[in-house]
Amino acid sequence: GATIGILGGGQLGRMLSVAASRLGIKTHIFEPGANPPAGEVADKITTASYDDVEALTAFGKSVDVITYEFENIPTSALDLLESLAPIHPGRQALATSQDRLTEKAFLQGLGLQTAPFADVGNADDLAKAIAEIGTPAILKTRRMGYDGKGQARIMSPDDADQALADMAGAPAILEGFISFSHEVSIIGARSPDGAVACYDPGENVHEDGILRTTTVPAKLTPSQRTDAVLLAANILNALDYVGVMGVELFVTPNGLIVNEIAPRVHNSGHWTQNGCTICQFEQHIRAVAGWPLGSGSRHSDVVMENLIGDDMDRVPELALTDAAIHLYGKAEVKLGRKMGHVNRIVKAAT
Ligand code: ATP
Ligand code: MG
Ligand code: MG
Repeated sequence: GATIGILGGGQLGRMLSVAASRLGIKTHIFEPGANPPAGEVADKITTASYDDVEALTAFGKSVDVITYEFENIPTSALDLLESLAPIHPGRQALATSQDRLTEKAFLQGLGLQTAPFADVGNADDLAKAIAEIGTPAILKTRRMGYDGKGQARIMSPDDADQALADMAGAPAILEGFISFSHEVSIIGARSPDGAVACYDPGENVHEDGILRTTTVPAKLTPSQRTDAVLLAANILNALDYVGVMGVELFVTPNGLIVNEIAPRVHNSGHWTQNGCTICQFEQHIRAVAGWPLGSGSRHSDVVMENLIGDDMDRVPELALTDAAIHLYGKAEVKLGRKMGHVNRIVKAAT
């Protein structure tokens, strides 16, 4: 049978492995950290650094195709792996989404709306960017940010020095602050033959920069819903994409504004595990393995709630409810760490 190599052994890698296993497909995880969540469910795990050429080579030779659960894979590792097995989603998707500047330029090039933005390398750039874009604004590191890390709010030009210091010398972009009514995301998939399937958009609530809940259906008009699907398909096609992608959107009176894209399964798509016949993890495995895509249709209205840090204490109580519980098997509870999630079915979809 086929083996899929997965870069990254976190919860996303774990849930991808479970989905692959249901399809009779083996997984081999590559992960630098010890005792990763995916380790106990994957068929094989290699614990090594991305600099370890020997380990990477053995990994690449042992699999039929490579995918990943996070977008910040070092370029040198990708160059090596690409010579050994196909990587899906491909390099263009990775290069575009690894850097917020490249990402925003790409999205605007497709005719999509983004926040106004400017490249910020130093204090002069920042002063110019603030003069152009105005305040409030958000300074973000171009690379590596997640869960709101690597961001500083600039409420007035007086905040500029502190915000720049928060970047610790990393290249950054300034984004104009979007005054949105709410946030939604759309999870889409594309197969090698160009078929596209999208899930219904979910409405996302963040707390302290971390996703707290996703609710489907989201508050959207029929035309906003269509816009979301069309823009997701636009992005997937432009990148000749293979796999599942998450697209985060701000809902405003002037339409949908794209916040960022993630070239992988996405936390805001976890509701599909209990709201759809084919969940995002199976969908990603299908696309990457060259299977036909499953339908993205939704059979139930769902609220997904992340279990973060001490939320784990609520599990015994949650186990007495009808919530579907998904735990990641992380050894240590930490403040702000995603430990699991629950999906509550609200009612059958209408
Ligand atoms: P993730 O964990 O989703 O990858 P991240 O660290 O990449 O998060 P963003 O998604 O860029 O960060 O921002 C986190 C949150 O901050 C957004 O979901 C939104 O609530 C808010 N935010 C980000 N950019 C803007 C903006 N330009 N205007 C208004 N709010 C914003
Ligand atoms: Mg992000
Ligand atoms: Mg985000």
